[in-house]
Amino acid sequence: MTQVTTSRPRTRSQARSPRRRHYGVIVVGSGFAGLGAAIRLAKDGREDFLVIERGSEPGGTWRDNTYPGAACDVPSHLYSYSFELNPRWSRSFSPQPEIQQYLRDVAAKYRVADRHLFDTEVTRAEWDASAGRWLVDTTNGAFTATVLISAVGALCEPRLPDIPGIETFRGELFHSARWNHDASLAGKRVALIGTGASAIQIGPAIVDQVAHLDVYQRTAPWVMPRHDRAYSALESLAYRHVPFLQRAAREAIYWGRESYVLGFAFEPRILQIAQRAAKANIGKAIKDPELRRAVTPDWQIGCKRILISNTWYPMLARDDVDLVTDSIAEIRQDAIVTVDGTVREVDAIVVATGFHVTDSPTYQRIIGKDGRSLAEVWDETGQQAYKGAAVAGFPNLLFVVGPNTGLGHSSMVFMIESHLNYLSSALKTMRERHLASFEVTAEAQRKYNAEIQRRMQGTIWQTGGCASWYLDKHGNNTTLWPGFTFEFRARTRRFDVGAYHTTAAPRRTGTRRLAAV
Ligand SMILES: Cc1cc2nc3c(=O)[nH]c(=O)nc-3n(C[C@H](O)[C@H](O)[C@H](O)COP(=O)(O)OP(=O)(O)OC[C@H]3O[C@@H](n4cnc5c(N)ncnc54)[C@H](O)[C@@H]3O)c2cc1C
Repeated sequence: MTQVTTSRPRTRSQARSPRRRHYGVIVVGSGFAGLGAAIRLAKDGREDFLVIERGSEPGGTWRDNTYPGAACDVPSHLYSYSFELNPRWSRSFSPQPEIQQYLRDVAAKYRVADRHLFDTEVTRAEWDASAGRWLVDTTNGAFTATVLISAVGALCEPRLPDIPGIETFRGELFHSARWNHDASLAGKRVALIGTGASAIQIGPAIVDQVAHLDVYQRTAPWVMPRHDRAYSALESLAYRHVPFLQRAAREAIYWGRESYVLGFAFEPRILQIAQRAAKANIGKAIKDPELRRAVTPDWQIGCKRILISNTWYPMLARDDVDLVTDSIAEIRQDAIVTVDGTVREVDAIVVATGFHVTDSPTYQRIIGKDGRSLAEVWDETGQQAYKGAAVAGFPNLLFVVGPNTGLGHSSMVFMIESHLNYLSSALKTMRERHLASFEVTAEAQRKYNAEIQRRMQGTIWQTGGCASWYLDKHGNNTTLWPGFTFEFRARTRRFDVGAYHTTAAPRRTGTRRLAAV
């Protein structure tokens, strides 16, 4: 549920604190999006930017999700920056440590690490209309910025389930995105709550060391076979010396993935082919008819994210694993109790229940020109933006992969790079046209979102018969992009200044210089 806090007005002296250091651009967050933004800004020749990151290094998702079995589920050749292909990926779906190392290496190669302020959380960002700047408060000082870039990620704030008694549990309990590596699960009775993308990687990775695993499933996912393999030394050598080969592999993966959109967005019946493959995946691994029934979803494939695994179903079929489909009624100090009254004793609980996607706490901290936070605005309208990047009432703020930019089928890095084009073009436009500010018009935003929601109507995400985190409390899909990703790329190639109110930068007295962006 969205928590809305009313923003406290700031006094004039607080806002104008002389200790504030000014930057042309402040980027919040340094995952694939924020790090990519830093690289793009540096390539564009900008010196006056700062990336503020609460973690101690870049990486975002890949720094935080260190759980056993963590790996990407879009092949690495595509799930990487187009400007920095990596011939050293060890396999098709690289494990988390490799992806995190890739991001570290990229930050070092493009020399942007020293443009970061690490271990620093943005606690508030407020548009100061009189100064035409963002006032940015952090746990490590206060700043101003002409332009604020939000790259805080959609899958970044762990969501803990609201289960009575959860705080009384005496054993180890942690979220998949905050894995406690000090806690040994060896020989323990472990409960895994959730059966989403993280859970299906975690379960098979820990099952051999635990004494017993209970998997708590609210909704069964569709799980397709995972076509993963290690790359041979010859392949890596070829990719290193003939980059064209890796580009060709990337292209082939890209177009293969795009073909899913036909089923997701235009003709859901096409997805029956995938559903049959997923059913066969169940049939191959699970012989017990009752268990088969329990793991077979009652909604159409594609309605939620399609998962991939060769080990999930075989794991569920093991004698030392129980699939629990009754809802959890309460957690006690040493047990989980389901609504049918069964008490299952456990030593440790792994919570893999996803993230605050449409209600990130960050949205309470971004305050627009009329003193309202993004959370307050979006609580009324549902989260929406123009091209996933700009929000009316929030001048000089751009998101990298904001609302309706998520994908169920392909690489988020493709969407991120599309938005990097948009923000780079926006900043160039500001410079060329001597603009002090830009703010998307309410009309442009309304029209754009009406189009998005109209296109959502026939999609599998709305018609597939599931309740998913893609949908908000109004029943709207405010998370996914409803079409081919190349269309998004085309629509974000250039900053379309005509959709924005703009103000001119004041000329400085006695000089021809214009206010720096
Ligand atoms: C386990 C997992 C696996 C995934 N696998 C895939 C995959 O295979 N393919 C795919 O396309 N996508 C995948 N995703 C989605 C993934 O999140 C995106 O691909 C991508 O990594 C998002 O990058 P980002 O920079 O937008 O966000 P993030 O990586 O979440 O980075 C956001 C950053 O912002 C920082 N931040 C947030 N708030 C603040 C604040 N107030 N102050 C300072 N810093 C702040 C965070 O610390 C974080 O570093 C996966 C997600 C998860 C959780």
